[in-house]
Amino acid sequence: SEFRLADLEKIRVLGHGNGGTVYKVRHRRTSAVYALKAVHTDAGDVSLRRQVYREIDILRRATGSDHVVGFHAVLPTPSGDVALLLEHMEGGSLDTLLRRRGRSPFPEIALASVARQALLGLAELHSRQIVHRDIKPANLLINAAGVVKIADFGVGKVLRRSLDPCDSYVGTCAYMSPERFDPESHGGDYDPYAADVWSLGLAVLELHRGHFPLLPEGARPDWAALMVAICLGEALGAVPEGEASGEFRGFIECCLQKESGKRWSVAELLGHPFIASADWSESERALRELLRENSDES
Ligand code: ADP
Repeated sequence: SEFRLADLEKIRVLGHGNGGTVYKVRHRRTSAVYALKAVHTDAGDVSLRRQVYREIDILRRATGSDHVVGFHAVLPTPSGDVALLLEHMEGGSLDTLLRRRGRSPFPEIALASVARQALLGLAELHSRQIVHRDIKPANLLINAAGVVKIADFGVGKVLRRSLDPCDSYVGTCAYMSPERFDPESHGGDYDPYAADVWSLGLAVLELHRGHFPLLPEGARPDWAALMVAICLGEALGAVPEGEASGEFRGFIECCLQKESGKRWSVAELLGHPFIASADWSESERALRELLRENSDES
């Protein structure tokens, strides 16, 4: 590889994930800025290591997608772990952006751009037979130009599987579709692409509400409450009449069909009036404006 860890200078910490820390780094010679994500691979656990490398392979397969975070290299670290060199997304995650706004909801016009770009990212992944499985605001990143890209597909989740999948981090379960949350009551097998659509619909709804929409604001998500909310609740019940346009409601309804067979596909959703009838320059301008108002300068 053209990259060596020694050529990279740490600038600051960008965030903490389940797998390890993400740093903003600069290449000493080229001055190019990247995100460096350290991933623990527990040297003793051969099967875990193999899984990590399989996920890195998925990152490679997604390379070149416009709405998937760019992947440059995997670098071994002195401790025996690996570090992933990724495209730096200056605006951070949409989850961070929402918190920087004091959880003030994103306007619908900006959400039309978020939803369209995330759908384009899913289309790119799905066309390469890649399922994300963990779409949520924390895994949708935005750059300084207002381009939204999908991040973190797989590596973190593989690591999480070695822990108790729900207890260790209920947040990972919160965006699961009903058929993933409770496979037995849905015939056991499910369409993994449709599960990504559910998660995306929930992520967009969260940005519209300002908080995780299936539970009362401020509630600590526990497994039982999530089970009831995801499998039995009415997601759109979270949106009081008059607080969303008909197009937005319709779009969310198409994403959050409980029966995966009734859920719209990514291609169909790109043609939904909420997306297809939006004014593009307006929508993208609104998203860039929101980004500017809430940037943290660093
Ligand atoms: P994990 O897979 O362990 O959950 P993430 O990949 O989600 O870790 O990274 C954790 C946080 O680090 C993100 O929520 C985001 O704030 C930040 N981050 C991750 N990747 C990048 C990137 N390419 N550019 C900028 N910030 C990033």
